[in-house]
Amino acid sequence: RQELYRELRALPSETRDGVAVDLMMNAGLAVDLPQLSESGASGIGLFRTELQFMVAATFPRAEAQERLYRDVLDSAGGKPVTFRTIDIGGDKVLPYFKTTTQEENPALGWRAIRLTLDRPALLRAQVRALLRASGGRELKLMLPMVTELGEIAQARELIDREVRHLARFAHLLPTSLKIGAMLEVPSLLWQLDELMKRVDFVSVGSNDLFQFVMAADRGNSRLSSRFDPLSVPFLRVLRQIAQAGERSGTPVTLCGELAGKPISAMALIGVGFRAISMSASSIGPVKAMLRELPLEPLREELDAALDGDDALLPMRAKLVAFAEAH
Ligand code: PEP
Ligand code: MG
Repeated sequence: RQELYRELRALPSETRDGVAVDLMMNAGLAVDLPQLSESGASGIGLFRTELQFMVAATFPRAEAQERLYRDVLDSAGGKPVTFRTIDIGGDKVLPYFKTTTQEENPALGWRAIRLTLDRPALLRAQVRALLRASGGRELKLMLPMVTELGEIAQARELIDREVRHLARFAHLLPTSLKIGAMLEVPSLLWQLDELMKRVDFVSVGSNDLFQFVMAADRGNSRLSSRFDPLSVPFLRVLRQIAQAGERSGTPVTLCGELAGKPISAMALIGVGFRAISMSASSIGPVKAMLRELPLEPLREELDAALDGDDALLPMRAKLVAFAEAH
């Protein structure tokens, strides 16, 4: 298998019928970086910047942040990297960052962009470090747990202010700055077209989106096999997102665990995703699936199943049957 995956690295990342699908990897620490070339990923679709904060004993200083981001971009060697602004709160706690309130529902609480917009000094320092590290190259920034479009506007204002600040001091600026939103909170599903207009890209955080759509704690082992993401409602949601991206010409990716299993990656491609990001070890297995996949028949079967009257039959079984037949 490992041998096969190594051979696949040099081959195009496309379906049997020639449709290109971008396979990227998730990362979060410097130790992950060698996997970029080893896996053959086309870039880093999700860099979880909070990991540096979680392994530290105190808030990482601006210089340490900048150094990490620069190392990441250097070792990516021109492959695209999407940095997510710190996603702390919820299940990701920083022992040295005390909050005064005990939260009853941390997953629904003061976390991610909610927290960083309330503590702008934290976000400002991070954005500045990211801008400095990407001088002369592209910077892709992604905002976690966006719930309302106003949060994007607020973050953008803060980012713009940092850009102006660096420009005033004649710093080398990024050659392009792209700002994206993670789609993890269901409220965005009813404002998809407005969302797509306001960002340069969208990335679905399927771990959180699934948790919130099904009202099922992603970390609760009693629930872990109870609800299936490869189900009619969730696949309809994902198809709707991919279609909205296509309508507006906004690139849409998905960077949750779902992307890393060949059968679910197949379903994602079938509902319209053309870029997905996963753990490095999944790139080989997913690419092996991709190159055998006849997309047109899959799309027809999936659309029929998602739009038909027998929508209550288990989708996973249908997808497995399709995979076995092809
Ligand atoms: C997700 O929610 O799917 C995601 C990619 O972010 P995280 O798993 O870090 O919450
Ligand atoms: Mg998430």
